[in-house]
Amino acid sequence: MQSRPAPQRGAGTFAQPPRPKSWNGRPPVIERVRLPAELIRVKRDGGRLEDDEIEALVEGIADGSLGDAQVGALAMAVYLRGMDMGERIALTRAMTATGCVLDWGPAGTRPPVLDKHSTGGIGDKVSLVLAPALAACGAWVPMISGRGLGHTGGTLDKLESIPGCQVDLALDRVRGLVRDVGCAIAGAGPELAPADRRLYAIRDVTATIESVDLITASILAKKLAEGLDALVMDVKTGSGAFASTRESARELAESIVTVASGAGVATHALVTDMGAVLGHAAGNAVEIAEAVAFLRGEGRDDRLAEVVLALGAEAMVLAGLEPTLGRARSRLERTLDGGEAAERFARMIAAQGGPTDLLERADARLPRAPVIEPVEAGEDGTVAALDARAVGVAVVELGGGRRAAGDAIDPAVGVTRALGPGASVMAGDALAVVHARDESSAARAKAAIAAAYRLADAGRAVAPVLERITPSR
Ligand code: URA
Repeated sequence: MQSRPAPQRGAGTFAQPPRPKSWNGRPPVIERVRLPAELIRVKRDGGRLEDDEIEALVEGIADGSLGDAQVGALAMAVYLRGMDMGERIALTRAMTATGCVLDWGPAGTRPPVLDKHSTGGIGDKVSLVLAPALAACGAWVPMISGRGLGHTGGTLDKLESIPGCQVDLALDRVRGLVRDVGCAIAGAGPELAPADRRLYAIRDVTATIESVDLITASILAKKLAEGLDALVMDVKTGSGAFASTRESARELAESIVTVASGAGVATHALVTDMGAVLGHAAGNAVEIAEAVAFLRGEGRDDRLAEVVLALGAEAMVLAGLEPTLGRARSRLERTLDGGEAAERFARMIAAQGGPTDLLERADARLPRAPVIEPVEAGEDGTVAALDARAVGVAVVELGGGRRAAGDAIDPAVGVTRALGPGASVMAGDALAVVHARDESSAARAKAAIAAAYRLADAGRAVAPVLERITPSR
């Protein structure tokens, strides 16, 4: 990395940024820094930014004193030149400090505050099951989730498919729900890491989304704002994931674990397989229906159960709720089998404005698509491979995701009973079932999904949990 002279204090100023609302008693940030263009030049030329310089840039992003062009140029410089772990930690902390940080009171005087976050996939309904399961095991779970992105689904969109269910909750409401119910799932409002909101929007239109440094800071800025004791990350890899290779998923997982731990939140990550739909449904209401069935113990998909238990156990051990992963898994299983997790889920949905009887009457409460048709296998065989991304794209094209920011979502459409690698079929059996608004969109989705399956004489299911990443590695 190119060396550079020490920053010249007072060479120029930009903005008089408002002081962060709270950052755990941290001393005040710099009073004067170099011109933003000079700092961008440092990164453009491969230099290292000091913590106070990063803080000033991030405050400039949040308060608007950095123009869109400067933010875009900075993002591109980081994308091309990268940041070391120290810079990533400083960037994450500075982005968190542009907004509110939830304060739950001193550890030991309240339950541990935990969360799980995923990098996004197809059919990933783990949050819907795990947040209430962890709450039923004695944790507080203020889960800040996202909307669908590209071909992947979003937990907030899924929750909004439940009539009345609100996800745009003020922070005070999230705080109250977590204290009352043990968990809440909501979006990041303007109070949480506002610098990320602006930076993300500019990255989205400047081809700078795919930067490990920026993704790490973006995800963790919002997680740190939850005031967590512990975090578990689900970094997905495979055809349906943003990190399509195992190496890129490992790199992101290591970055997130190192930066979160460096910023004071105990964090582990699991790299999990996204080479197939997780569970059997992909869409919005159809995934809520699968989550409800899972919580009720009615047909739990093995791979989904494994991801839920593995992530949940990591979180519980990190938070000190159980001493070993084995004991944590058993406790989670008891909570799921005994119905306590289901009961928490029902309370959370009702408290967020949804029906009080969703658990008992999901079929009657959830929207249902008018056209429901199977995707038939053309020959006998075993599923050897599946292009999970193509299934995700088919769900978006059915209307279950957005083609453009701001598009409305059709909550009822999607895919159910999607088979994964290793499943054997006879010609005419269903590989998946399409739920569509009309016949023509159903036909397009059926063709796309049929093409996503490769049948052969043999095929094997891939283990859902591929790797465990801890800070000591
Ligand atoms: N999710 C985020 O919150 N930020 C990113 O940069 C990518 C995924």
